Amino acid sequence: MSGLHRTQPVHELSLCQDLLEQVIAIARAHQAEKVVRVIVNIGPLAGVEPLLLESAFSVSCEGTLAEGAELVTALQAIRVYCDVCGLESEATASDLSCRHCGDFATRLLSGDELILARVELESVEEVRH
Ligand SMILES: [Zn+2]
Repeated sequence: MSGLHRTQPVHELSLCQDLLEQVIAIARAHQAEKVVRVIVNIGPLAGVEPLLLESAFSVSCEGTLAEGAELVTALQAIRVYCDVCGLESEATASDLSCRHCGDFATRLLSGDELILARVELESVEEVRH
């Protein structure tokens, strides 16, 4: 199996199942009727296609509290820490070098994450106006 095959939906699907478990746990903890929106922070290096994740998510949600929920993906910046000059800088997926001294001895601070940032719920109280 090629890890570089970017249109492979299996990866996104298994990520979605993990994500959905977290979302359902939060919804249950808040005794929500349904999940309205799920916001996920994705780093450009996470290897996730936002569009694939969105479609895989809507499939995973079927028959759960999160059915029909909108998945919003927020792309995060790549940040690196330079071991040579000790400064942080923004980087791109194709160039992770230090912006200050140009050295490649950098460590990734963020940019490869897939984090559940926020879950918007609809509770019984909010439905009854
Ligand atoms: Zn540097």
